[in-house]
Amino acid sequence: MKKRKTPTEQERERIRDELRRDVALRQRGYRERALQLFPHLCASCGRAFSGARLKELTVHHKDHDHANNPPDGSNWELLCIYCHDHEHEKQGMAGYGNGSAADNARSEPSALFNPFAALDVRTAPESKEGKTN
Ligand SMILES: [Zn+2]
Ligand SMILES: [Zn+2]
Repeated sequence: MKKRKTPTEQERERIRDELRRDVALRQRGYRERALQLFPHLCASCGRAFSGARLKELTVHHKDHDHANNPPDGSNWELLCIYCHDHEHEKQGMAGYGNGSAADNARSEPSALFNPFAALDVRTAPESKEGKTN
């Protein structure tokens, strides 16, 4: 006998977990590669990072497309967290991970985790006109 469950908090939590892990994995992947390719310096202010402070050195995507990760590192730049922040402010973009704008919405399951958000758009009737009865 099976009890049918509606999508529960648990289920959502699991999906969220998977998403998080996925992102973390991918980020760790290209960060590590970038750290192998480049000297451990901030490309903007030139400060050097090593040991525990190395985590303050982050990977910036030159074209701001986080999905664009050519293995030769041509889209990456190592920036310290301060310069990285500044870089994104300059571009008027929300943060690069723990973004400030995202913080406000964090308590609610946002559109980020709504797999149907895109569906809405797709199934929306394309022609509203006509049907004047
Ligand atoms: Zn810097
Ligand atoms: Zn960046």
